Amino acid sequence: MKKIQMVDLKGQYNDIKDVVNPSIQEVIENTAFINGPKVHDFQKNLEQYLGVKHVIPCANGTDALQIAMMGLGLKPGDEVITADFTFAATVEVIALLQLTPVLVDVNEDDFNINIEAIKRAITPKTKAIVPVHLFGQCANMEAVMAIAKEHNLFVIEDNAQAIGANYTYKNGEKVKAGTIGHVGATSFFPSKNLGCYGDGGAIFTNDDDLAHTIRGIVNHGMYERYHHDVVGVNSRLDSIQAAVLDAKLPLLDTYNKARQTAARKYNAAFKDQDGIIIPKTVGGCDGVCDTCDCHVFHQYTLRIHGVDRDALVQHLNEKGIPCGVYYPIPLHKQKAYEDERYNEEDFEVTNTLVKDVISLPMHTELDDEQIEYITTTITNFING
Ligand SMILES: *Cc1c(COP(=O)(O)O)cnc(C)c1O
Repeated sequence: MKKIQMVDLKGQYNDIKDVVNPSIQEVIENTAFINGPKVHDFQKNLEQYLGVKHVIPCANGTDALQIAMMGLGLKPGDEVITADFTFAATVEVIALLQLTPVLVDVNEDDFNINIEAIKRAITPKTKAIVPVHLFGQCANMEAVMAIAKEHNLFVIEDNAQAIGANYTYKNGEKVKAGTIGHVGATSFFPSKNLGCYGDGGAIFTNDDDLAHTIRGIVNHGMYERYHHDVVGVNSRLDSIQAAVLDAKLPLLDTYNKARQTAARKYNAAFKDQDGIIIPKTVGGCDGVCDTCDCHVFHQYTLRIHGVDRDALVQHLNEKGIPCGVYYPIPLHKQKAYEDERYNEEDFEVTNTLVKDVISLPMHTELDDEQIEYITTTITNFING
């Protein structure tokens, strides 16, 4: 059996070498390292793939979130509501811009931001909501957009974990994750569903004016050469990373399918197992979506109930099975983001999830033998 890895970047590279290497080589030969044609090609191809008017590439996913918020003109003291159960980058940029993060609880079934909790958190100072499409499926965007409309708020989608996922409206219409709110942000960190070979990110929007504003912000606030109209940043996707991404973009759907296939096999092995709650897909399907693509499984995350999770993690490590706990500490309990306004009873779900969740190896190269070994090791441990 091949060594099991949480993410198998080497295995994936070996399969696509013949496409990726010449694409990188081309950049080196033409020396257009910054804002070269590869960046433009990738931008156009991603716009087409997502069905969005504007993609603005930038240096990483954290910058993408920050720049999106700068582009919307959010001001110090504005309150921004986001999920307590996510990677810290989401709340970090809110705090960095001197906006006030307002963390709220998530749902037990899909781990995404809870709609009632958003409603309770709204004050006259609220200016934006940042739903995070955690682990590969969208938050309840129809409800988020309705609240935003009612209270005149911006919606910034953190789509770092769900690129390629579809969101299905109640009327059946499907759109790509990240293109529903006023602006979306994504990351091309190597382990993300569309990963480059270093850092990368992008911002998406259908709003022409906002796209124009953001294009200036990523380039030192310049709209005309050496005229700095606003305070900007320097955040670029470099051409070599764009070359990797442009070579990999045509494979994204195949990659997401491979993740769904692995998830389906995990689900089949665990669905009747006591002590395990399998991840729920809440889009247009029950179980693992093959045709609706509502979940692209950036992570395959189980909830372990009535079993010692830490002992299970240790056992898996001893058996050569890597696993992860995303995320072990709620953001409202992190030193940097503590706030006396928070009440523990408002974070019941997050406080439970941090004790229950475990993410299993999930990538495009998992084979049946590995999945079989992982699932039987886990069920044997639980059943003693
Ligand atoms: C990865 C990630 C980010 C940050 O992306 P970087 O490219 O690492 O800066 C932001 N939000 C979420 C939910 C992420 O998973």
